[in-house]
Amino acid sequence: PKKTLTSITDVMQATIGVLQSEANLHNISICLETDDYVPKLWLDASQIKQVFLNIIKNAIEAIGHNGKIAVYVQNKEDTVCLFIKDSGPGIPLSIINKIGDPFFSTKDEGVGLGLSICQSIIKEHQGFMSIANDYEGTVVSIQLPATS
Ligand code: ADP
Ligand code: MG
Repeated sequence: PKKTLTSITDVMQATIGVLQSEANLHNISICLETDDYVPKLWLDASQIKQVFLNIIKNAIEAIGHNGKIAVYVQNKEDTVCLFIKDSGPGIPLSIINKIGDPFFSTKDEGVGLGLSICQSIIKEHQGFMSIANDYEGTVVSIQLPATS
């Protein structure tokens, strides 16, 4: 991995740009809210972009049509936290433990590698990633260390 000092907000903005027309097609809005100051992080920007692409694509697929995706970038003590929330149906409790297992997919043509690859990229950046039900839909949380 090729790590450079990177603005995670810029990477997220670029990712949203890539998926914007697909989201528009499905009447799904994507909004991004970031803290005023977010420190730059040592990242492999192209890998992190793949992580965001996977997560937002999953959100679009979960919603199907008509809904919203809200992305938050927050500056904590010595981590940067990201939350990607969607207004989709959420994750059935019967499968919540299998989500993120390699090759687990509920989609007809799903490969089921998206989230497991995301997990390993985030781990490679000394971060944490989790997926859970929110009061509405699903929330993916990512924490990345602000130093190192
Ligand atoms: P794939 O997209 O190929 O199915 P992923 O690893 O990206 O593989 O996702 C695995 C499974 O996790 C999906 O098939 C889906 O059942 C579930 N999932 C992922 N993201 C969401 C989400 N935002 N809302 C509901 N379920 C989700
Ligand atoms: Mg996927």
